[in-house]
Amino acid sequence: MSNDYLQITPEEPEGTLLGLWWRKPPYEIRKATYAPYRGAGFRPVPEEAQVLACAPLGKPGEWTEPTVEPGLLNALLDVGQGRLKPVAFADRFGLLGYNELVPDENRCKGGEPLDWFRAQALTALTVVELIDHLKEAKESAGGRRHLANYLKEELTNGPYALGGKVAEVMIQGSSPIITANSILRCLLNANLGDAGRQLQMRNGELRTIFTFHALVQVIYWQLADQIGKSSIRRCAECGRVFTSSNVRSRFCLPVGGKKISACKSRWNVREFRKKKKRSRRKK
Ligand SMILES: [Zn+2]
Repeated sequence: MSNDYLQITPEEPEGTLLGLWWRKPPYEIRKATYAPYRGAGFRPVPEEAQVLACAPLGKPGEWTEPTVEPGLLNALLDVGQGRLKPVAFADRFGLLGYNELVPDENRCKGGEPLDWFRAQALTALTVVELIDHLKEAKESAGGRRHLANYLKEELTNGPYALGGKVAEVMIQGSSPIITANSILRCLLNANLGDAGRQLQMRNGELRTIFTFHALVQVIYWQLADQIGKSSIRRCAECGRVFTSSNVRSRFCLPVGGKKISACKSRWNVREFRKKKKRSRRKK
């Protein structure tokens, strides 16, 4: 850490977020009435909405440590790509934490609004795509063209999640790189929210830690860590966007203890058939 960083306690804070979260599967989608958060100063107007919530007769809940749970960020990216249902995400990791981000009068009893949850998934996916395109754009002219195209053809106005709020985002800078950086900053800062420094007692002494109030802040903390790194991948077989620290992973990661993923084995089979065809033609 740099010298202009003022230390409060003898130990420097660890570079990761610490904290616990809560999950109580199974989750379900049902109707509920709540007043969506539209920003400070807006009068709460209740409306009926679909809500992601704990099923009435579930297992007892349990505390989890989300920063060490593998696959959290990738699971939300999967929701954004329509590859994982919000209920399946919640069964694994719990809710994203809408109620922790909004004033009392905007809370959603028993769960969180599905629209907000989906907007969060789209926002996380957009952040990953922007980081990836920006990195490419800084490296080559081809990358700059890709970025310009992405902004023009693929990027939508949302709606995105900005903390507890769902809103459209329209930002136009003087160049594609400036536009992409501004959108990235807007989406990340709004969602990092008040994840920050806190003091905690440990063994009778104060220590300083970074902590969070909502699960979604853990995800944006991990997303902010992706900037400038090359750990964002796109599966060569199915196009899924995910993150992996292994620079050689070109396909979706294997699941369920398997050595290779379904996508890699599909690719292998096809390549094998192509080769066979070619060698037959030569004969
Ligand atoms: Zn794949």
